[in-house]
Amino acid sequence: MSVKKPAGHMDQHPQNDWDAVNYDPRFDEYTIPSGGALQQLFYCPFCGERLPESKRNAWFDQLEARGVADPWSEELPIEYQSDAWWKEPA
Ligand SMILES: [Zn+2]
Repeated sequence: MSVKKPAGHMDQHPQNDWDAVNYDPRFDEYTIPSGGALQQLFYCPFCGERLPESKRNAWFDQLEARGVADPWSEELPIEYQSDAWWKEPA
């Protein structure tokens, strides 16, 4: 079973079918590969619309409040592995 991964704003741009722009639903963040790193986008490269502000800081803050000191090595509550933590109230 394959589920199309959520693409956020990019859902409305079929020209992004090859995933030139990556969407990270955890952070509501849009990035493009740049060297070995990811460059965050603040405006949509297709229509110029301002993209939502990244929720990365809130993600870390809330996990810390839940006692998760190191999100990269600890197991995360399931809602923090997707966009559920900011889309659906717990
Ligand atoms: Zn756009």
